[in-house]
Amino acid sequence: MLVDSYNRVVDYLRISVTERCNFRCQYCMPEKPFSWVPKENLLSFEELFEFIKIAIDEGVKKIRITGGEPLLREDLDKFLKMIYDYEPSIDLAMTTNAYLLKGTAQKLKDAGLKRINVSIDTLKPDVAIKIAQKDVLKNVLDGVDEALKVGLKVKVNMVPMNGMNADEILDVLEYSKKRNMTIRFIEYMENQFASKDISGLKSPELLEIIGKKYKFSDDGFDGSSPSHYYTMEDGYRFGIIEPYEDDFCKKCNRIRLTAEGNLIPCLFFDEAMSIAESIKKGDIKTAALVLKEVIRTKPEKNRWGGEDSESSTRAFYETGG
Ligand code: SAM
Repeated sequence: MLVDSYNRVVDYLRISVTERCNFRCQYCMPEKPFSWVPKENLLSFEELFEFIKIAIDEGVKKIRITGGEPLLREDLDKFLKMIYDYEPSIDLAMTTNAYLLKGTAQKLKDAGLKRINVSIDTLKPDVAIKIAQKDVLKNVLDGVDEALKVGLKVKVNMVPMNGMNADEILDVLEYSKKRNMTIRFIEYMENQFASKDISGLKSPELLEIIGKKYKFSDDGFDGSSPSHYYTMEDGYRFGIIEPYEDDFCKKCNRIRLTAEGNLIPCLFFDEAMSIAESIKKGDIKTAALVLKEVIRTKPEKNRWGGEDSESSTRAFYETGG
């Protein structure tokens, strides 16, 4: 079992399989093209799998594939199948923008994928173009329909932003509710790659908007989920991810691995240790020691918001959010 210095059991590994993305979401990525990590610096799926085996043997029970956009990486279904075949009980999930999901959802499910989280920030085609800087909405919604059709569990992520999609909070919630998909509103986290004029809505503002139409009760936090959950009178649950709240970190059970092999104990801080060299050399023992050191040095808490607030210098598209 992996237990950090604050007695938190770490059993969740998020793997960003590529930093590349087919969207340019204003809250995540710079507008201008930039240089990507050269492909030869990325760990192959076989190399990532070598590390995954160590992590599973040490007690990891949940793996989420993310990015960038994970569906941009070829043969993702084969990678999922490698993980599933090694440990069929693994909770195998993916976070995606769903743009490429139509036509691939069945293959991914057959490979062992159980759940996906899809980013849907708007239901208006013109707003989608503004946010993602590309005409994306139809593909995204078709991708979601197909995922539901093949039986994947789907959650929706929305980042509510003033002057952008704040007027669609109820619309996206109702779209999700109608399809029995839990929606989680993610409070915008400042970062140096986002467009400068973005301002996100905070939890009290979101609750006020939803409260004007629906009654709900506060369920608090659920297990190790970073989401604060609320239940409506008809039983539908929605969540708000509030990285500025203490509870967000208190139950943190996750570490992150980038496509280059950097193992990151906390999304906020820049600290990371590389497993690339040891994995490439087949030195499993050293890779396992690096994993344990990353767990040992996992910080107690992020510093988003509050008096000593700063922004992480690492991009969300690199770490997978
Ligand atoms: N391409 C995939 C997607 O669109 O979901 C996966 C990568 S994306 C970086 C993962 C998650 O990070 C998305 O739900 C996105 O909304 C969230 N995210 C990115 N930048 C963020 C920010 N500045 N604040 C809050 N959430 C952010």
